[in-house]
Amino acid sequence: MAYQYDVLTIGLGPAGMAVSIMASEMGLKVAAIERRKIGGECMNVGCIPSKSLLRMAKVRHAVAKFPVMELEDGVAPALKQPFEKIQSYLKYINESKTVGMFKRIDLILQEGDAEFVDPHTVRVGEKTLTAKRIFIATGTRPAVPPIPGLDGIDILTNENIFELEGVPKSLLIIGGGAIGCEMAQAFQRLGCDATIVHMDPHLVPIGDPEAAALLEEQFQKEGITVHNSRMISKVALENGEVALYTDKDERLTGERLLVAAGRRYDFASLKLENAAVKHGKRGIEVDAHLRTSQRNIFAVGDCNGQFLLSHAAMHQGMLALMNAMMPFFLQKNFRKFVVPWTVFTEPQVSYVGKTEKELQAQGIKYETIKVKYEDYGAAIAEAVDVGYVKVFASKAGRIHGASIVGEGSGEMINEWALALQEKIRLHKLMLLQHSFPTMGFLSKRIAETWMMNRMQSGLVKKMAQFMYRL
Ligand SMILES: Cc1cc2nc3c(=O)[nH]c(=O)nc-3n(C[C@H](O)[C@H](O)[C@H](O)COP(=O)(O)OP(=O)(O)OC[C@H]3O[C@@H](n4cnc5c(N)ncnc54)[C@H](O)[C@@H]3O)c2cc1C
Repeated sequence: MAYQYDVLTIGLGPAGMAVSIMASEMGLKVAAIERRKIGGECMNVGCIPSKSLLRMAKVRHAVAKFPVMELEDGVAPALKQPFEKIQSYLKYINESKTVGMFKRIDLILQEGDAEFVDPHTVRVGEKTLTAKRIFIATGTRPAVPPIPGLDGIDILTNENIFELEGVPKSLLIIGGGAIGCEMAQAFQRLGCDATIVHMDPHLVPIGDPEAAALLEEQFQKEGITVHNSRMISKVALENGEVALYTDKDERLTGERLLVAAGRRYDFASLKLENAAVKHGKRGIEVDAHLRTSQRNIFAVGDCNGQFLLSHAAMHQGMLALMNAMMPFFLQKNFRKFVVPWTVFTEPQVSYVGKTEKELQAQGIKYETIKVKYEDYGAAIAEAVDVGYVKVFASKAGRIHGASIVGEGSGEMINEWALALQEKIRLHKLMLLQHSFPTMGFLSKRIAETWMMNRMQSGLVKKMAQFMYRL
């Protein structure tokens, strides 16, 4: 059967963009459907605006600490309208950078939701398109928990928070994960009183308690209130304020309420049943090669529920396209690639590989090597001496996982991801020169500390002395 297109992508976030741009670069005939904006959640209402806001908040925080510029009412003039500025950045990126990448792609933008007619046919608005292979990259939406009273409140989510006209006086945040933490710090630093309320015992619950404790300590210093282990029983609008009631008999109030309590899947409009694509509560089901239950259809990025991160989404897009053209024995198992991740608060919190809890649960023997920023001259002199690098490794230097809390950890974690993925052992990292004085130098210190630990063995000491004196 002749199809109109080689590749059809539904959704143009990081995953769909990776598939369609790569496929068009290869000379394939590509169509892409996006119901809202190119760039998806990441570019428009996720990673990019949130990091932009955090950067402005960081500057405002630094200016308040070290006042070197003219302030108006305690605020640098350029930081008075952060959301207006963010929208202007997004407009510039979209118009000047992104659109150009789609020159060779048939783009069907803002014409409605795509829906399957059969495994090779998709309808959108008045158009019907057929393709040899279809890549679903439709992402997720913010979940709104079933808390009594919540439906009567004009809530904020990541989908509308970056379009606010100004910073509210106070912000209640339901959720202590990455989004809740980043927004709490950004808004607090922009002059708002931020309060996090969530049900988990510590912030960033998929990370470890030590990192969370350090982050919470920093939050408290900045005036952010954190309520861990709370069940919210009711939300109401009282005297023009949002009032939130908890199972600990607390009444917390705020001008606005941000809900950052996880994600939900929204497949109803896609009509996946017409293509026999299986999905469940955790997204579209995929095999190791990112194929769905229908061989010619792949599901990439957040919609398959695997990692919910932009870089993972882009990587999956690339792998799925490669898998679509490779013989079976060359196809890549997406689960074999390590996925580093970072919470972009200050201090940044980053992980890769197994956490200590996972190592213990899996009965894997490991040694913990830890160095602290407070023991590093460069970190002290630059006043960023909060945090640590912690690595779990075998006695033979095989790396199991790394967690870094502190300045630059989002950059540093990539080195550990490379080492983990390429099975580079600690002695090799020790022999790698690291530019000084960077925070990344602390990673080399980990490898040196691991080596010093080896030198504590009497046998190794004797061997070293013997060889030296030969
Ligand atoms: C506030 C916030 C901050 C974040 N920060 C980070 C970060 O720092 N780092 C990181 O790695 N990740 C971050 N994320 C997560 C990141 O945004 C997602 O992991 C990423 O966007 C997923 O990409 P995707 O391509 O799978 O889906 P999305 O980016 O969600 O894109 C899916 C697209 O599909 C479209 N679509 C859906 N259904 C249809 C349909 N039926 N027809 C046509 N189009 C459709 C949608 O309109 C959307 O544009 C953040 C998320 C949020 C909310």
